[in-house]
Amino acid sequence: MNKCDLILIHAPSVYDFRSKSILYGPISDLVSSTPVFEMYPIGFTSIAEYLERNGYRVRIANLALRMLKDPNFDVEANIAQMDAAVFGIDLHWLPHAHGSLEIARIVKRLHPNRPILFGGFSSTYFHRELVQRHEVDFVMRGDSTEHPVLELVNYICSGGQAQPHIGSAEYRQLESVPNLVWKDSEQQVHVNPITHCPQNLDGLLLDYSHVLKSVVRYRDLANFLPFNTWIRYPITAVLSARGCTHNCLTCGGSASAFRKLHARQKPSFRKPEELASDIRSVSRFSRGPIFVLGDIRQAGDDYANRFLDAIAGFKKPIILELFDAAQPKFFNRVARALPDFTIEISLESHDDQVRKTFGRPYSTEAIERTIASALDAGCRRLDVFFMVGLPKQTFESVMGTVDYCGQLISRYTSNGEKRLAPFISPLAPFLDPGSRAFEDPERHGYHLFFRTLEEHRQALLAPSWKYALNYKTRWMDRNAIVSATYEAGRRLNLLKGEYGLIESSIAAATDKRITRAIALDKEIDHILTIDNLPERQARLKDLKTQVETSNLSTICDKRELELTMHGHRFRWISMAQVVLQEMWKDGCRYLSRHSER
Ligand code: SF4
Repeated sequence: MNKCDLILIHAPSVYDFRSKSILYGPISDLVSSTPVFEMYPIGFTSIAEYLERNGYRVRIANLALRMLKDPNFDVEANIAQMDAAVFGIDLHWLPHAHGSLEIARIVKRLHPNRPILFGGFSSTYFHRELVQRHEVDFVMRGDSTEHPVLELVNYICSGGQAQPHIGSAEYRQLESVPNLVWKDSEQQVHVNPITHCPQNLDGLLLDYSHVLKSVVRYRDLANFLPFNTWIRYPITAVLSARGCTHNCLTCGGSASAFRKLHARQKPSFRKPEELASDIRSVSRFSRGPIFVLGDIRQAGDDYANRFLDAIAGFKKPIILELFDAAQPKFFNRVARALPDFTIEISLESHDDQVRKTFGRPYSTEAIERTIASALDAGCRRLDVFFMVGLPKQTFESVMGTVDYCGQLISRYTSNGEKRLAPFISPLAPFLDPGSRAFEDPERHGYHLFFRTLEEHRQALLAPSWKYALNYKTRWMDRNAIVSATYEAGRRLNLLKGEYGLIESSIAAATDKRITRAIALDKEIDHILTIDNLPERQARLKDLKTQVETSNLSTICDKRELELTMHGHRFRWISMAQVVLQEMWKDGCRYLSRHSER
């Protein structure tokens, strides 16, 4: 690999997942990734693009995906032949606590003189614990680190040392890098204040053209792919905001978590016209659905209207998420602008009391009116999400939620339509650090088992997801959460099969996987009672093959979330044009930067 200024590495959730026998459960059923969580954060692309625009060479190395795709992929050999002035590793989602730290340890062993930078929401939360580790030199805090990372890379590339002497010029330079956490030569930790928290997303390019260019420049598709099945189903996300106006109890992306972690008092929004332009840019190369992250009404009706005016006439599939109930006039406007739209909304529970305690502001009745209006306006699909592990929620309440899903399905399939699809999943494996439930668990009816980063790292090695859960509630212990999840999944799957929302063969296969997962859960419980450690480990290892066949699409088939696609997935000619344009612009910037140096 040619030398870069920065290599951004994405690690698997558990580093040695290929040799371990871990029953991950349904933790990734409703996301595009597998339980390895091979999808890298969207911040990788914005940081890479921002630095390249400023004359630096940046690569993304999705080691999680490489390891997943190729059982013989040699991680150490791959890292050994990388070279960069700085290695950046994301610890954004806490389920990466094990893999990210292991990868950091390997990078430090193979490249002892290269600094290692961590970033992401979990890194921000655990910055002190993280920076005290030998393998971590820097942590960049905050939700918008493109510019602070540029300042740090400027410092390193002009010869700055990772741990400068107290009082030296380099020491003073590091003191001035916003959001940075670092150590001096005496191993004293310095936490620079979060002074970089931009109030808008202007100046960022969030349209993936940089990723396309990098794939061609480095002749490297494998490291830039976002997740395992992306070539078959190229769904892409665009970002409407950083921050949220809502305050769901367990969410690390809530308003209160953003205030606490990132010093963000209110969300910053992408300009509505730029958001529309991001979508059109993505559609130049991909025919896949585009997911707009963040409710477009968060910044007010004027924002939503401006966005819909700017995107009007866009005919490709768009997925919009709603954080609150919506009126018919909103859907009519969406339908006029975006004829192929899908809606996602989280109802969480059928019980208003449970949902309200969780922090969702709407009633079941309001959402039922919303569902009816969206379907009347012609939305292509409407996905409704429910969750297990909520405050005031019992096993019986979860079953009540499934009964309610049955009523919804029956109501909206009676005329032969199949546009409404309910999903249920557990709140797993972790309550998000920084969320209200994590910060003050007992007050909200939660009990936390793990607090520190190290405890979470260890928890990820538990043989089944039940023991990795970092919480129980006053109403359900970990056993009840796991049983309620499997039973709810089983009943909902049967309902979907019965009403024809999914093919009977798919329903039968899912049912079989649920039965096998329940049996494995019991078997693992039994093995954990064995006192003799070597015997216990051997018995767990014997389960590896069975466990592996239960780790994907446990309680629903992942493909149920996909929108049907016809024809070619990509527009190859447009893609080539985008690449050429970007490489030309990039070459000019690179030359100009290096003639300045
Ligand atoms: S879960 Fe709630 S708080 Fe979190 S991003 Fe969604 S709406 Fe905002």
